Amino acid sequence: MRIFITGAAGFLGSHLCDRLLAEDHEVVGMDNFITGSPDNLTHLANNQKFTFIRHDVSNFIFVPGKIDAVLHFASPASPNPNSPYGYVNLPIQTMKAGALGTHNSLGVARAHGARFLLASTSEIYGDPLEHPQKESYWGHVDPIGTRSVYDEAKRFAEALTMAYHRFHGIDTRIVRIFNTYGPRMHLDDGRVVPNFLQQANQGEPLTIYGDGSQTRSFCYVDDLVDGIIKLLYSNEHQPVNIGNPVESTILEFAHTINSLVGNMAGVSFKPNQRGEGDPQRRQPDITRARDVLGWEPRISLEEGIKRTIPYFKRRMNLV
Ligand code: NAD
Ligand code: UDP
Repeated sequence: MRIFITGAAGFLGSHLCDRLLAEDHEVVGMDNFITGSPDNLTHLANNQKFTFIRHDVSNFIFVPGKIDAVLHFASPASPNPNSPYGYVNLPIQTMKAGALGTHNSLGVARAHGARFLLASTSEIYGDPLEHPQKESYWGHVDPIGTRSVYDEAKRFAEALTMAYHRFHGIDTRIVRIFNTYGPRMHLDDGRVVPNFLQQANQGEPLTIYGDGSQTRSFCYVDDLVDGIIKLLYSNEHQPVNIGNPVESTILEFAHTINSLVGNMAGVSFKPNQRGEGDPQRRQPDITRARDVLGWEPRISLEEGIKRTIPYFKRRMNLV
């Protein structure tokens, strides 16, 4: 296939480019580098099967040549209000990427008769009242909270994707991605994995927001990419959760990171600046992914973190 992917210079987008090229597809990547980096794609500079277009997906998208599949991944993705890359500090751009960017990307799929895959998120469940979260759960989102610029844009994106599927007959897929980590995460985007790995590598205490009792379920990027590729090749039009169901509190997670890095500085507690918008529990129910895609994660948290540490050390000039 010739596959068009938005957000190609980001963490997940660049891994998807690598995987699709390894499967012998041609890839056309698009990005405006608002939160991603050309560094994530430099290794593809001489790859004849890869083309890159610098462009903001909020504006009309033109892709020359035929396209068989469109993967829409362009969007800021970090909720951290202290990071310049956090969507709270890019609120209008985030809403435009989720709304106009999804509309334009669906337009590309329609014009080319291509299949379409939307990168949605566990955030559409908000601060969930149902646990673990199944795809049938409608969510608990504050429509005007600080996170709403991301959550509501993604909810709109899902609705628009289903409208194109039902009204225009576009062959669509929706992946609801749960917390994913691995090499090429932005060091300064303020998400918990980059923060903790940098603090641990510098021998500093890991900053726990609140009391650390909030939970997350972390998926290694290679597992996530496997799930997305399986979904792309499937005929499933309903949303599918892809994530690792092994849940831990943020405090337990901090201890795991400290022990894997060998950091003796422990943790420090900070007031949770994300306030009430910070989801208290998050764990995917992956029954649908298991049943429909035959997918489940294979890489344990310990193994995934061990694979991620060298990237952070290299980017921090520690090796
Ligand atoms: P990222 O910030 O590393 O990548 C996003 C990429 O999109 C960046 O390269 C950025 O420059 C680009 N982009 C943003 N707005 C754009 C625009 N208007 N035009 C062109 N390019 C634009 O984040 P990520 O973690 O790789 O996330 C990728 C996608 O996956 C996002 O849609 C995000 O919502 C979704 N997602 C990620 C996670 C996760 O845990 N990483 C979880 C749920 C959903
Ligand atoms: N968190 C933390 N310390 C940090 C960064 C994040 O305790 O330095 C917490 C944050 O409050 C949240 C969880 O870790 O409860 C996961 O945050 P992340 O930014 O990775 O993304 P989220 O899962 O909230 O989308």
